[in-house]
Amino acid sequence: MSENTERLKTMIIGSGPAGYTAAIYAARADLKPVVYTGLEPGGQLTTTTEVDNFPGYPDGIDGPSMMVELQQQAERFGTEVRMGRATAVELSDEAGGIHKVTIDEDKVVEAETIIISTGATAKYLNIPSEQRLRGGGVSACAVCDGFFYKGQDVAIVGAGDTAAEEASYLANICNKVTMLVRKDYMRASKAMQHRVDSLKNLEIRYNSEVDEVLGDQVVEGLRIVNNQTGEKEEIAITGLFIAIGHKPNTDIFKGQLDMDETGYIITEAKSTKTNKPGVFASGDAQDKIYRQAVTAAGTGCMAALDAERYLATIEAAPEEVV
Ligand SMILES: Cc1cc2nc3c(=O)[nH]c(=O)nc-3n(C[C@H](O)[C@H](O)[C@H](O)COP(=O)(O)OP(=O)(O)OC[C@H]3O[C@@H](n4cnc5c(N)ncnc54)[C@H](O)[C@@H]3O)c2cc1C
Repeated sequence: MSENTERLKTMIIGSGPAGYTAAIYAARADLKPVVYTGLEPGGQLTTTTEVDNFPGYPDGIDGPSMMVELQQQAERFGTEVRMGRATAVELSDEAGGIHKVTIDEDKVVEAETIIISTGATAKYLNIPSEQRLRGGGVSACAVCDGFFYKGQDVAIVGAGDTAAEEASYLANICNKVTMLVRKDYMRASKAMQHRVDSLKNLEIRYNSEVDEVLGDQVVEGLRIVNNQTGEKEEIAITGLFIAIGHKPNTDIFKGQLDMDETGYIITEAKSTKTNKPGVFASGDAQDKIYRQAVTAAGTGCMAALDAERYLATIEAAPEEVV
């Protein structure tokens, strides 16, 4: 190790619910964790106004405040939080090996264990009216925000299994759901299609896209365009849900960690272990199914416990670790 290279016991990459929960556990276990925040300190929840389903907040809490509290809780036990983005990694194949992480294309930091909690990014349509009304009725998470539209008319954009799942969820609580499908067929499995087809308060519109989201401060309606005929139509809605997929923030680990075809990191069953010894993955970066703050926090806890056990085994008998 050169004089300028720093070596950490535990590096946590990402500062969402998974990263900060891992930090709380790791700090209390004396693993002296350092969290690198990335470009979105606090993670996805900093983009939402109301979190009503995280346990421990009976009156709900706004996302940015909740994340400040999680950071403070992690710091209380000695976690060091640093601004910085991991831009490259060199992960060791050896048990007890040292991993190297480049921060901001500049400084190289070595770590005995790494907890990856880089999350995922929801895809949006990227039209100006949709971007303007994010948090004002436009959401990328029906399970998180659907409740706020109970008994109201909403629309959802998407055609895959997740979109179908979220559309059924919304149909259970909303008055009417209009589902916009860009092509003349859905990508969702037949079973999911049957499920949405059977919902009486759900209308599927094929060959349909969002032309504009209507409303000044909050969503009041939607202008839909038929991409075959060019015909436009306005409908009144109060919520628009975008369900066109997520991209896990895992590009820097490609070629080194096992991933599925969409880039989610694969972990061993009932653990957060990746295919590299001492490297653990938590939160939305490895979870394409649940994608909730509480599940991210749960796997963050698991990752810190896995890291602690790994280090204990290495220190006890390095050659026996597999
Ligand atoms: C609009 C919206 C509303 C939501 N509402 C709710 C809700 O009410 N309840 C709920 O349970 N869930 C909600 N969710 C889902 C919830 O936010 C996520 O499931 C949760 O934040 C995932 O946590 P995470 O820690 O895995 O990752 P994220 O929160 O995505 O955080 C990822 C972190 O990694 C960092 N990062 C990424 N790449 C790098 C890198 N290369 N180097 C360093 N750091 C990096 C980012 O800066 C960020 O800090 C909502 C999501 C959205 C988008």
